[in-house]
Amino acid sequence: MKPPHLPVERAEIARALYRAFKTPIYVLNDCTAACYGEALFGAGRGLSDMAFVGIGTGIGGGAMVDGRLLLGRSGGAAEVGHMVVDASGRMRCTCGAYGHWEAYCSGRGIPIFFKKWADEVGLRKRELEEALGKDLSSITAKDILDACRRDEALFKGFLDELVKLNAAGLANIINAFDPALISVGGSVALENFDIFIRPAISLLPSYAFNEVPEIVQSPLGRDVGLYGAVALALSPPDVLIERALYARTR
Ligand SMILES: [Zn+2]
Repeated sequence: MKPPHLPVERAEIARALYRAFKTPIYVLNDCTAACYGEALFGAGRGLSDMAFVGIGTGIGGGAMVDGRLLLGRSGGAAEVGHMVVDASGRMRCTCGAYGHWEAYCSGRGIPIFFKKWADEVGLRKRELEEALGKDLSSITAKDILDACRRDEALFKGFLDELVKLNAAGLANIINAFDPALISVGGSVALENFDIFIRPAISLLPSYAFNEVPEIVQSPLGRDVGLYGAVALALSPPDVLIERALYARTR
């Protein structure tokens, strides 16, 4: 597994845990696990085609296609946060590449993108800090999205950009995986679904080739990743059993 935010190419977590506990260890990308949790316990129950996207500190995802959890060569089959949503590459992602969804719309990306946007449209620092009630150097995604609710006129342009980028990201998921449902989780999306995700859903017919599926807030909320871990332990997907480290080492 290649961790996008750690300064290592590979993290051999499963081998160390297997040696310590002598029990099957399954390691998955957190949002891929969350997708599996959603499929077993949440909004995706009974569906063979569904996707999950988590918009929190970063953006991650998972997909079940034809009843099979997608892993890919290195576990990154649904790294949807690193899909390009802006080919002009205005923003550099934490992974080092340009134009990725996570660089614009994640909890970490929003404040950086906001400052760039404000600069581009010529908003003065003092005016912004008054509207935000906070120094620009310490603003968070929550401060900005709260301000978007309070002062729609001043921040409407920025919110419109976020919504369009979310629509592009969701459309890419629809076009790549053809899901019957997309469950959306992650703190940024869950707390701001009404202004951040719902308007993006209404833009999807302009971007999606495949039929736009039902798009819901994850009913498992902030615990969706934990449900994913439980789902893996109770019912590990075939694709993971085939690749499990314990199977090769015992
Ligand atoms: Zn990236």
